[in-house]
Formats: sequence, C-alpha cells, structure tokens
Amino acid sequence: MTVKTRFAPSPTGYMHLGNARTALFNALFAWQEQGVFLLRIEDTDQERSTTEFAQQLMQDLQWLGLSWQEGPNVNEISPPYYQAQRGEIYARYYQQLMDNDQAYPCFCSAAELSLSRKLQRAAGQAPRYAGTCAHLSPSEIEAKLAQGVQPTLRFRVPKNEKIIFTDMVRGEQQFMSDDIGDFIIRRADGTPAFFFCNAIDDALMQVTKALRGEDHLTNTPRQLMILSALNLPAPQYGHFSLILGHDGAPLSKRNGSMSIKELREKGWLSLAVVNYLARLGHSYTEDTLLSLEELARQINDQRLGHAPSRFDPQHLKHWQQLALSQLDDEQWWQWLTHNITLEIPSDLCHLFIHAVRPNVLFPEDAQQWAEMILTENLVWNEEAHLVIKETDSAFFNHALIALHNSQGDYAKLVDELKQTSGLKGKKLFMPLRAALTGVTHGPEMAYLLPLIGIHRAEQRLSSAADQDSL
Ligand code: GLU
Repeated sequence: MTVKTRFAPSPTGYMHLGNARTALFNALFAWQEQGVFLLRIEDTDQERSTTEFAQQLMQDLQWLGLSWQEGPNVNEISPPYYQAQRGEIYARYYQQLMDNDQAYPCFCSAAELSLSRKLQRAAGQAPRYAGTCAHLSPSEIEAKLAQGVQPTLRFRVPKNEKIIFTDMVRGEQQFMSDDIGDFIIRRADGTPAFFFCNAIDDALMQVTKALRGEDHLTNTPRQLMILSALNLPAPQYGHFSLILGHDGAPLSKRNGSMSIKELREKGWLSLAVVNYLARLGHSYTEDTLLSLEELARQINDQRLGHAPSRFDPQHLKHWQQLALSQLDDEQWWQWLTHNITLEIPSDLCHLFIHAVRPNVLFPEDAQQWAEMILTENLVWNEEAHLVIKETDSAFFNHALIALHNSQGDYAKLVDELKQTSGLKGKKLFMPLRAALTGVTHGPEMAYLLPLIGIHRAEQRLSSAADQDSL
C-alpha cells in the first residue's frame, strides 16, 4: 500500500517552526517510500480561518521545498481539500452514526454543562459529559426541537473499552473509553468538531501515517473510536513533543520564535531551516547539510525522540552558514539582492562578493558592509575610536602617502607603511582598519580597499590623522 502522509494545518495564523517541522516530517516519511504527501486545509473554524493564511501556508510550504503530491490544485483525487467545503460528506457520516445510535442530539446549554463540570470537580471526579441527553426518547427530542433549541451532536462512547494504539513517536498508548465522556462531533451551529472531520478525512483520503503535535495525543482515542464506529481505517498516528523556547516555555513569539514568513523575509535559506528542523526530535547520523532527498532517504522512525526539543537560534545559524557556503557566487548574489537593494556599482560586484561573503549570514549584514564602503561620512565605533586615539597621527600621515604611492594596492600600501611607520602586526593593521572601515574587524582589507576607493580612503585616513582636533 502506498504510504500517504499529510499536513493538515488550520489557516488561523502564519506557519511557525512547530508546524513546519510537522509538515517536514510528514513529507519526508512519504518521500522515503516514494509515497504521497497530502495537504488538507482544516478551515472549519470559520471565525479564525482566512484565505490569506491558507495562501500564505501554501507559499511557505513551497518555499521550504515541501510540495504536496495531493491537495489543493494538485492531483485532486478526493476533493475538496478545504474542510469548509466538505459539509455534505460529513453529513452522511453523522447520519450513519445517528442511524446506528452511535450519536445523539444534545440540548444541554453551556450554563448547564458548566454547572455539571463544577459539581463533578467538587466531588473529586474528572469532568466529563454526564450523559443528560444520552437517552432522550424520540418524542422528547421532537419536543426540544420544536422549542427551537439547536442541539449539538454527541458521539456515544462505547462502555468499558480499552483503546490501544502504537504511536510512531511514543510507542504503545492505552486509554480507557470510560475515562472519556460522550463528546461533541457537531457543534450547535452545524460545524464539525475537529476530532470528527480530521479523522473522517484521513480515512477517506486514505492517509496511512499522520504525524502531528503532542497536543493532539488525547484526541487520538476519540478519533479511533469514531473511525471504528464507522468501520473506517485509521492512519498510524505519531505525536511529536512541543518545541520549547530557550526559557523552557512552548515556543512562541514571546521567546523568540519567528514565523516561516519572517524567516524567509530575513533571508534565512530554506535548506538551513529544513536541516535544522529535521534534527529537532530526530537524529541523523550525518551532521552535514543534506538535501531534502537525502533527508528523506535517511529518515528513520527508530530515530524519533519524544523528549521536548529546544529551539536554539545558534544551531539554526550554523545551518545557515553551511547552506550559504554551498551557493556559488551567482546564487549568493541572487539570494542577497532578492532580499535587499545594494548600491554597489555593478563593476564592483565581484570584488564585493569576495570581500564580504565570509562575513555575511543575512542580507542585512551585507547591507551594513555596503554602507560602510560607500559612505562619505564614516562613523567610528567605540573600539575603532579608541584604537585611532591611541595611534600617533603621524602614522595616518604615513598611511596617506603610502596610499598615494601604492595607488590603492593594499599589499604595497602595507609594505611601505611598515617601513615608514616602523610598526608591524596588530599595531599596524588595527589602526589602519579602524580608520578605513570604522570598525576593528571585518572582511579582508585587500578586498575592501579597492571597494572603498582611493578618494574615500584618503578622506578617512585624513580624519584619523586629524584625530586630535576631534
Ligand atoms: N488542523 C489541526 C492542527 O492544525 C491538525 C491536527 C492534525 O494534524 O491532525 O492542529
């Protein structure tokens, strides 16, 4: 049987690292066996779901390289792939459950339910539906409907059953049906509850594996009961632990998480992001940068871990560095200029790339170097200021002469300056760099100097020579 996995996001916000990881693992497990990665948009929460979020989710998936082989606009063999459009399908299954007395209308009001929960808690019991409407007669139901009360539909949970399943991440899991009260599968406004449509769709779309966040673990026994009542197949479920922030709290905006959209806009490379995510909750034997094909080839359910993973921006940066180093100069330039506008004249592009590439992790880094190179008003940072202050202005006057004599050839300039200033090593290079760039470290001066140009270099050395008047 073809492996089919799925990503089933609710379009109620931007995709963040947690659901990107879910999408990634589902895709990798499908691709490993030449299977199908399916996308389904779970937009039943009509108030919070928007088309813009759905579009953005799809764009983010494409950017990550996680294209789906079935879903919106692709190989639509079980349409529609938006749950909001599947009402008629769900209606058939509600009817089937009602016909078999496996579901019943519930007329309890929110206030009644809340009171019942309070009483249960007070008696030291776990709150669950007390079964008030579980055995209404047809005439009682009729009477309530005649009063215009809109009922919810509850699933009648079988008594005294053990629900056992093997979770792909956590191994065997057991639940007792008696711990689960009859639960709502259709809300009073007619919209389906998550448990229900999610399970039905997995079955109808023939999903074989469903990896998702651990927040869904306790939904699983409910979903298995629904599927079993309808005689529908269940996928193999797997539940990842949450990704935590550096403070140990679930990853969120507050502790530094960024949406995929934000990561992309900041210039993170998608290969860096997927290599990082593929190692959150799963270990690879290789710690080199792997392509998606390679990640899929090497993924192994035995290597899934269930300890919560912590988001570490330093690790993500490490992958960014590796991913950047794989780009040739042309790709690198494209990546850069796709994200920012640089004022570097086109005949100096190559020189600029040589000069700054090793010092750039994000496009904004390159922008800073470009600004430093091109500015007519260089501002020294504190460290540079100190270095310049500690250096005799005669040094910068020698440097000015050497600049003229060398015509901007850095090696020649340095040779001459060694002679004329009598300095060498750090004592020579630091003040020179500080004066020419305003900072005390950065790209190689031999590349930077021709970019700065003789004219600006002259101005900068002159200001350093004039330091006493500053
Ligand atoms: N729409 C659900 C969510 O975004 C999907 C859960 C699942 O993958 O089963 O949390």
